Amino acid sequence: MSIRVEHLTFIYNQGTALEQRALDDVSFEIPNGQFVGLIGHTGSGKSTLIQHLNGLIRPTSGTIFYDGTDIYSEGYSLRQLRSKVGLVFQYPEHQLFEVDVFSDVCYGPKNLGLSQEEIKSRAEDALRSVGMKEKYWDQSPFELSGGQKRRVAIAGVLAMNPEVLILDEPTAGLDPRGRDEILDEIKSLHEEKGMTIILVSHSMEDMARYASRLIVMNHGKKAFDGTPKEVFEHYKELEAMGLAAPQVTYIAHELRERGIPVDKDITTVEEARDAILRLLGK
Ligand code: ATP
Ligand code: MG
Repeated sequence: MSIRVEHLTFIYNQGTALEQRALDDVSFEIPNGQFVGLIGHTGSGKSTLIQHLNGLIRPTSGTIFYDGTDIYSEGYSLRQLRSKVGLVFQYPEHQLFEVDVFSDVCYGPKNLGLSQEEIKSRAEDALRSVGMKEKYWDQSPFELSGGQKRRVAIAGVLAMNPEVLILDEPTAGLDPRGRDEILDEIKSLHEEKGMTIILVSHSMEDMARYASRLIVMNHGKKAFDGTPKEVFEHYKELEAMGLAAPQVTYIAHELRERGIPVDKDITTVEEARDAILRLLGK
């Protein structure tokens, strides 16, 4: 699989007083198996961008290619695209609606017209891969905790067997433990199944830890695109966009300014720990 976006521009309410240019000439390519972090200040265009990638929003101008084919070319099945590019919305628990967890997760595969057996096995696999224990499967999704609801919603998308999983702030509003568990589950999907991941997050710490590439959006334009280390070097420009580097990056820079020789591209707590231990000669 590969996704290529060329000169994508999107304007909400074009031609009205409410016109809003949400995306402005954005281009990038995502090869198979990458873990991409998408960051940007509120209103920078992240949610609008990802909804283009599975054909939910049609560009005002520009082109989106999936595996080299323009998704709006004649005869292209957007329905099929949507099963390959799974999108978990911001606050996805608002879209749970079935009487029990298992039925909710079956909803997507059922619509694909699969056999009963296949539907069941996909739902089971999906629920297991997000760490939902069997005792919850016949409960109402509305009785679950916030983190568990989020898991059910992610499982519902995974049950479609997507090649790409896009998650729009999957950890927003969760406690630190729930957050780490969900991110670790996403990481396993990436590592064990080779799934391509596009993760929208406001946490720079999470981005440094999980993503191998960061795309930074600012006022609808792509501002940076590189490894987390490359992107966080620009922490001063990020701040001007209402963003920041991870906390430990600031500590590393401050230590260097005081003449203590630590690497300036430290972005995770583990790297900071190792650098400090090295300085102490341990
Ligand atoms: P957040 O971090 O708050 O989720 P975002 O980066 O996802 O923000 P978008 O939701 O893509 O940003 O919004 C980009 C721009 O488009 C903003 O100026 C927003 O106000 C505008 N916008 C988003 N959705 C709509 C809509 N349905 N109608 C009109 N304008 C919209
Ligand atoms: Mg958004």
